[in-house]
Amino acid sequence: MRGNQPLHIPVRTIMTPGPVEVDPRVRQAMSHSILGQFDPAFTSIMNETMQLLREVLQTKNEWAFPIDGTSRAGIEAMLCSVIEEGDKVLIPCFGRFGYLLKEITERCGAEVTIIEKEWGQVFEPEEIIRALKKEQPKILAMVHGDTSTGRMQPLQEIGKACRELDILFIVDAVATVGGTDVKTDEWFIDGLITGTQKCLSVPSGMAPLTYNERVENILKERKSIEQGLITERSEVNVKRRIKSNYFDLSQLQDYWSPARLNHHTEATAMLYGLNEGLKLILEEGLEQRFERHRVNEQALVAGIKAMGLTLFGDEASKMPTVTCISIPAGVNGEQVRRMLLDEFGIEIASSFGPLAGKIWRIGTMGYSCQKRNVLLTLGALEAVLIASGVSVHRGEAVQAALSYYSEALKEERAVL
Ligand SMILES: *Cc1c(COP(=O)(O)O)cnc(C)c1O
Repeated sequence: MRGNQPLHIPVRTIMTPGPVEVDPRVRQAMSHSILGQFDPAFTSIMNETMQLLREVLQTKNEWAFPIDGTSRAGIEAMLCSVIEEGDKVLIPCFGRFGYLLKEITERCGAEVTIIEKEWGQVFEPEEIIRALKKEQPKILAMVHGDTSTGRMQPLQEIGKACRELDILFIVDAVATVGGTDVKTDEWFIDGLITGTQKCLSVPSGMAPLTYNERVENILKERKSIEQGLITERSEVNVKRRIKSNYFDLSQLQDYWSPARLNHHTEATAMLYGLNEGLKLILEEGLEQRFERHRVNEQALVAGIKAMGLTLFGDEASKMPTVTCISIPAGVNGEQVRRMLLDEFGIEIASSFGPLAGKIWRIGTMGYSCQKRNVLLTLGALEAVLIASGVSVHRGEAVQAALSYYSEALKEERAVL
């Protein structure tokens, strides 16, 4: 190893829809020395983290804990633990992450039906409710905020309909929890998954989730099937068992319960980070935090419009944590992103599938969602566009954002 240089990490301003910058307090928390996972000093952090999660996820559910792995690990744990081969699942798709739910659900052996929206739009609740009545699935799985298109689907009416029709409602709220209101209980969500690296502003590597008794009852039944296999291997039971060990929520729940049944080796340093990140959210206050996200997003939007650029997608369903901009005709979107990174150390995102090369996406999430970052990004984007020969309204963007901020401050709104 002699001769190798120490790790050098350049300073960046991360304005993507994840991963985002983290508060120095989170980084500090993660650098504490390692504890064993059954050390009472650590299990008390586990219990405290469960309580913090319940508050951030706005739920009274007994079960709220993280899965070790990125957000899709949480999605996969939830889906593979509730879906049995042949179960009917309905998935409304309005962006890339709806199709991720479809893929995972199909791999779990479900009979999947999707309904689709053109990218940039969301569904009317009635469209989904009609499909629920027609398909009568066991599960409705859908995304709350799809970062690929920057759209957010209102969920409450859909959740209420699911409860009335006795359909399980499972939601990917990876990109919204911690940045905008997500009311697990009030919206009748039975199983909800989030991720650390978006608005919770903790490094990627954990997927907090929560579920209620409706999900827990399924887990109990499948656990007894699993135990039955030890004494009697019937073909039916082999077919019905949860196919994953790592993502088996019934085993994970036992590990997070006072019984502390051994499962995996917990990522203890990651949990320090999550614990501190959740405390930061609650110290700020949920309402204050959502307001800060709205103000910074609105300032960014004011700047983008003042520059003469066009926002992508239906405005009414825009996520407050992601802003999508149509790339002007003739402009190479990747070159602009590259120059922002090389010259200014600012990272923004492109998109996927039908939107690749068509839009840029700017995240305003968690610790990255700051006035300073918004102003820097607007100034830098304008400079890069001018250098690339794009005609923009010069000098307008940062001024528009500054005026928005001064109005917001007068109204005593949260800015940071
Ligand atoms: C980012 C994201 C994911 C996937 O997260 P990973 O942590 O990369 O697994 C899933 N769903 C949504 C809506 C996302 O924005």
